[in-house]
This record gives sequence, C-alpha cells and structure tokens, in this order.
Amino acid sequence: MAEQDLYKVLGVEKDASQDEIKRAYRKLSKKYHPDLNHEPGAEAKFKAVNEAYETLGDPQKRAQYDQFGAAGGQQQGFGGGAGGFGGQGFGGFGGGGGFDDIFSQFFGGGGGGARRNPSAPQQGRDLQYEMTLKFEDAIFGKKTNITYNREEQCETCDGSGAKPGTSPVTCSKCHGSGYVQVQTNTPLGRMMSQQVCDVCHGTGKEIKEKCPTCGGSGHTEQSHSIKVTVPAGVEEGQQMRLQNQGEAGVNGGPYGDLFIIFRVEPSKDFERDGATIYFKLPIDFVQAALGDEVEVKTVHGDVKLKIPAGTQTGTTFRLRGKGAPRLRGNGNGDERVTVSIETPTHLNKAQKDALQNFAKASGKSVSGNGKSSLFDKLRGV
Ligand SMILES: [Zn+2]
Ligand SMILES: [Zn+2]
Repeated sequence: MAEQDLYKVLGVEKDASQDEIKRAYRKLSKKYHPDLNHEPGAEAKFKAVNEAYETLGDPQKRAQYDQFGAAGGQQQGFGGGAGGFGGQGFGGFGGGGGFDDIFSQFFGGGGGGARRNPSAPQQGRDLQYEMTLKFEDAIFGKKTNITYNREEQCETCDGSGAKPGTSPVTCSKCHGSGYVQVQTNTPLGRMMSQQVCDVCHGTGKEIKEKCPTCGGSGHTEQSHSIKVTVPAGVEEGQQMRLQNQGEAGVNGGPYGDLFIIFRVEPSKDFERDGATIYFKLPIDFVQAALGDEVEVKTVHGDVKLKIPAGTQTGTTFRLRGKGAPRLRGNGNGDERVTVSIETPTHLNKAQKDALQNFAKASGKSVSGNGKSSLFDKLRGV
C-alpha cells in the first residue's frame, strides 16, 4: 500500500474542521463515483477518498492518525498483526467491521493521550440505501416508504447488554480502560503496544449475565420502515441524508445517519443533464423546407413547436420551462429539441415525379440511382 497523506487525498488542510472534511469527502466521492465517472483511475480515487474519510471523518481515529503520521507507518511498526492488513479490501462506506476493528487495534492508545474513553457515547454507524427511480419520478419527486434492516437498541436491556435487573461491571482484565498491554515480536525487535482488551472488546465493562434478547450486544437487528420524500429534480448519484436513520449508537450515543443514493432509470424518449432535457425530433424534408407546426413530447405533456421554413437538420429549438425542476427551487430548466431531417426511402411514382419536377424547377437534372430503381422493381415497389 502506498503511503498517502489522507489530508491530501481529501484536499484539505491539516487543521480543517470536521465539517470541511465532510464537505470535501461528499464532493470528491460524488466526483469519482464509479457510476458517474468512467475515466481511468476514478475508481481508485473513489476508494482512496473513502478510505481517507474512514479515518479523518471520525474525530477519534483522526486524532490517532495525526499522532502516528501517514498510514504506512502501521505496517512497519506492527509486523506481527499487520500481515493481513495490507491486502485487506475495504468495503467502502458502511462496510463491515473488519477495517474498524483492525484499525483500532493498531492505533488503540498507541500514543496515550488520544485514547478514547470506552464508556463515552458513540454515534452508530451510517447506512446506505440505493433507491432506483423512474425517469419521471426523479423529475417530479415522490413520496415513498422504504424498509431495511438496521441494528436498533435492544428494548429488553435498553442497550446495556445485561440481563434486566443486573448491570455490567468494570472489566476485570483491563480494569475499565478497554485496552491491555501486549508484547509483540516484530522484525524491528520486541515492542510493547496496547491492544483492545479481548475480554470486554474495548468497552471496559464485563457483562456477567447477558441479556437474553440481544446476547449482550445491546443491539438487535430490526426491520425498519420510514417515509421518504424524494425531492423533485434529483439526479443520478445524488445523495440525501436522513438523520438518525442509521444504526444504534453505543453507550447511549445517537443513531447514525442513512444516506439514500438515487439511481435514475433512463427514458426511452429523453436525455437529461441537470435541469435541461434533450429530445430528438425527426421531421421530413418537406416540413423542414416549407415550415410546419408540430407536436413535441415533453415531460410536462405535448406542446406545439413552430418549425420555420428552411430549417436545417441539427437545428435546436428551446422550449422554455419544459425541462426538469432546478433542485434549489428556481423554476424549471428548458427542453432542447434537436430536429433531424429524414430522407424518404420508398417513393411512389407520383412522389418521384414531383421531386424530378422540383429538381427541374431548381435548374438541376437528377438522374436518380439506377440500382435502387431496379431493386425497387424487384421488390414490386
Ligand atoms: Zn476489558
Ligand atoms: Zn439486550
């Protein structure tokens, strides 16, 4: 794994606020999202941005990272346990506990000062939910219900993990600190390090009689339903955050958040870029030459469009306000109608004669295409 400055990955200063880090992360994860950005290297950047945020987005881990310096350091110092770390894939956001657990083992109290208090309230994990929308629903918005599984605070023990009537006691191995001193043999010699206590798993508390409902975890997985209002004008890849709809916190900490990521199905008629909708309108060459009034499809229903005489193929007309709503509430974008002029393929005799007369009137002589006429004859046209 290359040594990377996580602050540089997110493009923020070392003293950036958590808010600035979050903003930078949002911006970059959208920019490099593999569904939106197909440039080579985008996926790797997306991964790097997520990894950087795993650390910097969490004040605790960030403080530990600041003490240890670049992430590469952990591989040298802690040879014994680090073997599996370098090759470990990260699950992206909301991924499994693997990364967190290993990470906190390495950083757990290494420097001393930044060690987290095991009984401090911690916010629960954020969750992600992908919502696929029909093209029109993304434009007009909709109200819907979603259901997903999440860890909720156990109702039997109110999250303590202890059997009702009993309470967790201070851990006998770590005496409540959540960490124990471990001696490790590394290529650089014998090292003392601190690791998460294996009896209490860092909580500092031991549960002698476990809650029968949650088995001591304090959480139970529950199916959870919420109402979601999809705002009018959302686009592919955009995210919406619903506070406290993620997983239950620890030690009475708040629930994490739910991030809804919108996926928008394509339309068979329209293309869309932000608030602008694009529509291709085939017209025939007589309409283009003489002008006409035609009905044009828009997401708001059909509207009339005047095709001026002498319109060239590829000309684009703008239907003001017939696009998608602007998310910030400033009315609608436009629909842009691009005409393509279709050349007729199967002409009957009267049509051919009329066109020959047209050519004559223009002072030209057109021989026609012999092969095509023969072909037409064979086909009985
Ligand atoms: Zn312990
Ligand atoms: Zn319980």
